[in-house]
Amino acid sequence: MTVTRFSQFFLRTLRDDPADAEVASHKLLVRAGYIRRAAPGIYSWLPLGLRVLNKVENIVREEMNAIGAQEVHFPALLPREPYEATNRWDEYGDNLFRLKDRREADMLLAPTHEEMFTLLVKDMYTSYKDLPVYLYQIQTKYRDEARPRAGLLRGREFVMKDSYSFNIDDEGLDEAYLAHRAAYQKIFERLGLEIAIVKAQSGAMGGSRSEEFLHPTPVGEDTFVRSAGGYAANVEAVTTVVPEPHDATNVPAATVLETPDSPTIETLVQRSNELHPKNDGQWSAADTLKNVIVAVVRPDGERQLVAIGVPGDRAVDMGRVEVNVGALLGIGGEVEVEAATEDDLKAYPQLIKGYIGPGLSLENPLLGKESVTEIPYFLDPRVVAGTEWITGANEHGKHVYHLVAERDFTADGVIEACVVREGDPAPDGSGPLQAARGIEMGHIFQLGRKYAEALGLQVLDQNGKLKTVTMGSYGVGVTRALAAVAEGNHDDKGLIWPRNLAPFDVHLVATGKGAEILEAAEKLAEDLAAEGVEVLLDDRPKASPGVKFGDAELVGVPTIVVVGRGFKDGKLELKDRRSGEARDIAVDAAVQEILAELGR
Ligand code: ATP
Ligand code: MG
Repeated sequence: MTVTRFSQFFLRTLRDDPADAEVASHKLLVRAGYIRRAAPGIYSWLPLGLRVLNKVENIVREEMNAIGAQEVHFPALLPREPYEATNRWDEYGDNLFRLKDRREADMLLAPTHEEMFTLLVKDMYTSYKDLPVYLYQIQTKYRDEARPRAGLLRGREFVMKDSYSFNIDDEGLDEAYLAHRAAYQKIFERLGLEIAIVKAQSGAMGGSRSEEFLHPTPVGEDTFVRSAGGYAANVEAVTTVVPEPHDATNVPAATVLETPDSPTIETLVQRSNELHPKNDGQWSAADTLKNVIVAVVRPDGERQLVAIGVPGDRAVDMGRVEVNVGALLGIGGEVEVEAATEDDLKAYPQLIKGYIGPGLSLENPLLGKESVTEIPYFLDPRVVAGTEWITGANEHGKHVYHLVAERDFTADGVIEACVVREGDPAPDGSGPLQAARGIEMGHIFQLGRKYAEALGLQVLDQNGKLKTVTMGSYGVGVTRALAAVAEGNHDDKGLIWPRNLAPFDVHLVATGKGAEILEAAEKLAEDLAAEGVEVLLDDRPKASPGVKFGDAELVGVPTIVVVGRGFKDGKLELKDRRSGEARDIAVDAAVQEILAELGR
C-alpha cells in the first residue's frame, strides 16, 4: 500500500451544498469531493468516489463469479438494428439516447443490453451442450430520464451490473433465476443495505416472473406494500382481491335522475342523500362509480384517451395505470399516463365533465345514447357482475341510479388502476397491507423466449432439433447502490462509511506545530501501509486543526487518528466516526491498536 497524502490528493471539499441537491447523499458526495456534476444527471468521478465505486463493484463481481457467471464487456455505443428487431428502438421512447454516425447511420447509447447478449450467444453457441451460460458486465448505461434527481440515485448516465442467463428449458431458467436471487441477497447484505424483495410488474421487458430488490428509504420513488404474513409487492404489481359476483335480482331498473350541481363525488353523495335517499342508510362515495379520463402517451409520442371506472371512494394511481394499460391497448413498450387535459377533451364534446358515464365505447341504451365516444373503457376489478352504482348519465346535472355491472353495462377490459391503500387485503390472504417507500436497487426477470425468438437464438437439442433458448435478465444499480449507502450512513457533519466500502481504512490527521508531529504521522502512515492499511494522511501544512477535523468528518472514513496535542505525552487520539467516541492510544502501540480497531 502507498500512503495517500492530502496535500497532493486531487480533492477539494466544498463548504456549501450544491444548489440543485435535495437529498443528503447527493449533497455530501459532492461536498466531500467524491463526484462532480457535469450535466443534469451526469457525474464525473473523483479519486475518492472511484475508490468507493471500485469496492462496490468488487462485491458485485465476487458474488456474480460465485454463481459461475462470467464477466464480459460490451460497447455502450451500439447500432440500431438489434434494437429494431426487438422493437425497442421505438418502444423505448424518449428515454433512449439516439444519435447518428458520420454516415448518417442510427446509433444508440445502450439503456440495457438484452439484444447484444442474445446475439453474442447466438454467434458463438450452437448446441444444448453449451448451455447453461450466465454472462454479466459492469457497465455504463444511458437513459434520458424525464426526471433525473437525487444525484446518483437517478442519473442519465449510471453504472449497472447486468447479467443474462441462457438455458435450454424452463427448469434451467428457474435455477438461474434463483441463483441470481440468492447472489443479490448476498450483495446487498455485504453492502449493508436492507432489502425488501417484492413482486414486480415486468412492464416493457415482457416475460413472466419478476421481482425487485427495494431498499426501504423515505427518499425512494417506489411505493411498496407488505403484509405481516410475508406478502410484499411494488404497488404497481399488487392485484386486487376480487369480490364474489353480487346477486342483483332485487335491484330496481336503472333510472336517470336529476342531480343538479353535482360534478364531484362529494357533491354527488350530498345531492343523492338530499334528493334520492337510499332505502336503508346513507349513500356514500363507495356507492358511486367514478369515470376518469386519462391520456396514454405512446412511445412514439401519440396520445390516446382511455376511460377508467373506479369506485368513487378510490383514486386512480397513474403509476399503476402506466404499467397495466399498455397490454390492454396492445402497445409494446413503456407508456406515460397523465390526467386528460382540457385540450384532450375538446375533441369529445359528448363527454360532460363531472357527469361522465360508462357508456363510452359500448352500446348502452339505458344511458340514452348508443355510443358516446370510441374511447376504450376499463373497469376496476372491484366492479364485479351484479354490483350496483350511481354514475354519470353523460348529461349535465344528471346521474344514473341502480346501474348494475354486466346487467346494464360492460367494459372493454379490467384494469388494476386504483391506489393501493394501507389496510387493503393482501392478495394471498396473508393479512392487511402496510405501505412503505423504497428505491429499486436490483431487478430480476424471467424473460423467457421473447428476445431469443425476436433475434433467432436457437440451439440443437438432444434430438438434433432446433430449440429456442430461454433467458433471464438481472440488474443491479451499482452507482445507485453507492448513493443509497451514503444516504443511509451520514450525519449533519458528513458521510460515515461502513468499513468495507470506505475510501480509506484510516484518516490520519497531523495537526500542531513542530516538525516532529508530521514526522511521527508520516512514520505511522508508512507502518500502517506496510500492514496493508489504506491510509489518507492529512499532511497539509497550512490548514487549521478545525479545517482538518471538519474535512475528516465530511469525508467519512470510519476511523480517524489524530497526531496532535497529546503527542508530546506519547499519545495519539483514535476516533470512531460512527459512534463519535474518542480514546487515547500510546504512540508505541499505535499500529497494533489501530489494526485491532480495524478488526485485523
Ligand atoms: P426505476 O424503476 O428506478 O426507473 P428501472 O426499473 O428502470 O428502474 P431496470 O431497467 O430494472 O431499472 O435496471 C436495473 C437497475 O438499474 C435498477 O434496479 C436500478 O438499480 C438501476 N437503475 C435504473 N435506472 C437508473 C438510473 N436512472 N440511475 C441509476 N440507477 C438506475
Ligand atoms: Mg426495474
